[in-house]
Amino acid sequence: MAQYPELGGRVLIVTGAGQGIGRAIALAAAQQGMRVTVNDIREEMAAETVSLIHANQGEAIAHAGDVSKEEDVARMVEETVARWGRLDVLVNNAGIEPSASILEMSPEMWDRVMAVNLRSVFLGTQAAGRVMKEQGGGVIINMSSIAGKAIPLPYRSAYAASKAGIVGFTKEAAREFAAYNIRVNAICPGVIITPMTAAARQNPAMMEKWIREIPMRRLGQPEEVAALVLFLASDDASYITGQAYHVDGGKVMV
Ligand code: NAP
Repeated sequence: MAQYPELGGRVLIVTGAGQGIGRAIALAAAQQGMRVTVNDIREEMAAETVSLIHANQGEAIAHAGDVSKEEDVARMVEETVARWGRLDVLVNNAGIEPSASILEMSPEMWDRVMAVNLRSVFLGTQAAGRVMKEQGGGVIINMSSIAGKAIPLPYRSAYAASKAGIVGFTKEAAREFAAYNIRVNAICPGVIITPMTAAARQNPAMMEKWIREIPMRRLGQPEEVAALVLFLASDDASYITGQAYHVDGGKVMV
C-alpha cells in the first residue's frame, strides 16, 4: 500500500471496525503510523482489532459504542481527544444491511437501518466537526455504497435509501465545512469480501450474477477500500471534497 508520511502521528477514528472494511481501515491507518480509535458495537471485536494493531507495534484504543446513539458518539470523540489530544480523520463506516420487501418491512426495521447507517453519519460529523473546526481542519470520510448511487439490491430499500442519504449529506457537509478546512468525501464500495456479504457469497447463483456484472470479474477486498480511505485522508487529496467514489471493479460507471 502507498505510504503517506504526513499521516504519521495523526489521529483517526473508524466506526464499525471490529471486522470487515472498518478493520482493514484501522490496520492500514495504524501501518501509516496513525493513532487509531477503533469503534464497534461489539466490545470484543473492537478489542480484537486493537490487539492486531498492537501486535504490529501500532497505536490504538478500543471504543465500544452504538453509533446511532448521540451519547455513544459524543463519548467516542471525547475519549479520542482525551487520549490523543486531537482528531484528524473520522471514518463513518459502521453499517447494517438487513433485507425485507417494502410490503413486509416493519417501520422499526426501517428506523434502525436509518439510525445505524445515516443518523450515525450526522452524529459523527457533528461531533468531529466541532473538534476539527477548533483545530483548524480535518477529514471526514463516509461509507456509502453503490446501492446508494445506482444499483439498488433486491429487498434493500432502507439500505439503499440510507446510503443515498449519505451521498447527499456528504455533499452538504463538504459545502458547509469547507470554510473550516474540513474535507468531506464518501466512498461507494461494490461487493467486498467481508462478513456482511458472507451469506450471499455462499449462494452460487448470486455469485455468478455478481461476477457477470463486474467488468473486472472479481469481488473486492477490504484493503482495496482502505487504500482509498488513506488517499482521501492524505494531503495528496487536499483539493478533493464533496465527492463519492466507487470502489467496485467497474460495476457502476456514471
Ligand atoms: P460488516 O462486516 O458487517 O462490519 C460492520 C461492523 O460494524 C460489524 O462489526 C458490526 O457489528 C458493526 N456495527 C453494526 N452496527 C453498529 C453500530 N450501531 N455501532 C457500531 N458498530 C456497528 O460490514 P462491512 O462489509 O465491513 O461494511 C462496512 C461498511 O461498508 C458498511 O457501512 C457497509 O454498508 C458498507 N459497504 C459494504 C459493502 C460490502 O460489500 N461489504 C458494500 C458497500 C458498502 P455486528 O456484526 O454486530 O452488526
